[in-house]
Amino acid sequence: MSKKILALATDEILNGVLEEFAKLAAIPRPSKHEEQVSNFLKKFFTEHGLAVVQDKFKNIIAEVPASPGKENFPLTILQGHMDMVCVAEEGYAFESTSDPIKLIRGEKFLEAEGTSLGADDGIGIAEILYLVKNRDAFEHGPLRIIFTTDEEQGMGGASGLDKKFLADANFLINCDSEKFGEIIAGSAGTVQIIFWRELHYVRPDTKLGTNVEIKIGGLRGGHSGGEISSGRVNAIKLAVQIMQTITRHGKIRVSSFGGGQAFNAIPDSAHFAFATDLKVQKVQELCHEFTRRIKKVYGATEPDIKIETKVVKRPDKVLHAKDYELLTTFIALIHSGVYLMSPENPAQVLASANLGAVRMNDKLVELKLLARGNADELIEEFIEGFEQAAKLCAFESKIFEPTPAWTFNPNSKLLNFAEEIFAEQNGHAPEVSTTHMGLETGFFIKKNPALEIISIGTTNENIHSPNERLHLDTVAPHVKFIVGLLEKISATQA
Ligand SMILES: [Zn+2]
Repeated sequence: MSKKILALATDEILNGVLEEFAKLAAIPRPSKHEEQVSNFLKKFFTEHGLAVVQDKFKNIIAEVPASPGKENFPLTILQGHMDMVCVAEEGYAFESTSDPIKLIRGEKFLEAEGTSLGADDGIGIAEILYLVKNRDAFEHGPLRIIFTTDEEQGMGGASGLDKKFLADANFLINCDSEKFGEIIAGSAGTVQIIFWRELHYVRPDTKLGTNVEIKIGGLRGGHSGGEISSGRVNAIKLAVQIMQTITRHGKIRVSSFGGGQAFNAIPDSAHFAFATDLKVQKVQELCHEFTRRIKKVYGATEPDIKIETKVVKRPDKVLHAKDYELLTTFIALIHSGVYLMSPENPAQVLASANLGAVRMNDKLVELKLLARGNADELIEEFIEGFEQAAKLCAFESKIFEPTPAWTFNPNSKLLNFAEEIFAEQNGHAPEVSTTHMGLETGFFIKKNPALEIISIGTTNENIHSPNERLHLDTVAPHVKFIVGLLEKISATQA
């Protein structure tokens, strides 16, 4: 038997893992283009004499037999995703489907030349490959390796994975977290909804002599999973508040309205144009007053907010009064922002919604909304409320297939083992938390609700950007953490 992994020097483990990582970096593997990397991984397991399946989603599922005498211990899945987000610095020539990632190994960090590194989740995959190669150097029960595809662009691999690969397992260790020392033990489910209604236009009344465009900008926006509780102002909601304020002082007939980009991005800008019977000065005054009010409440989080007014030419047509009323009422009614914080952990959001975009054309108006909940029931509750508001305001809706939530399980044996082993190896307790992002783990728990899951990882900074870098000093401790955990599992009867 080779030397025990837990007894190896840090550098020996790090070099072993980076050797595997370098092979992955050489293979272009953006989401939706995983064939090559999937074939490479299949070959890896075949060459090591292990049973391997490549399913129609190009997911790889491999079986690693238990150490002698450990056959009856709980089946544990080690899992990661093989695809990566490929982005390059401006001006750096890079073709994501054909160019390799060029690695730069410094003293403290591993980085890529000009592009994202793909430590998310290449380092998770590399560590698992290293462990499979050295499977005789630690005690373990039966292991299954699952490498999924398309995590970064729809989670098609995890969603399509046959549930038989999860049904007989007790534990799943997801190696796709970004901070060593943190154990993720729950994630949000998400659902995307599109609302729309037909619009009717009329010629503007000649008595509405002032024509203005208002632009809202300078807001911080951000990802609706990570930033929803950090006091960001939603530009679309703000636009409607301004419209409603103007309505209290005079007439307003809107001719255009738009804002935001995506379901999962907090809208950082919005604009609308309208005809009104108010003087331009009055509109400007109302906007100043609005800016002052926003700064009073959100000054610390939105210091750069700008509400600009510009006189524009008279529009040919404006929204029918009834359409305007229903549209603004609907946007005012639907909740956007934090809905529920955790009673146990005041720093954690359990449910939120983000009104991400509004688009209006000659025929209809369309809104994009994304709701998140760390329990499926919260999302259902949410959808019900949105549907009622839609009905009231004569909006139609399309609800996309939800991504399931992974609800925190305080009785998880796997989590208890992980906390114990981490503290033993590192001399301090790990941070246990849940995330308000959607993870592949939601699909796994849906396919096998009895599965106990944790998500762990090395420390990776600035993922999904050309500044992505891996903290090298977290690689060996993370490998030892997994090994310690697998040894613990193989020493404790289920
Ligand atoms: Zn990832």
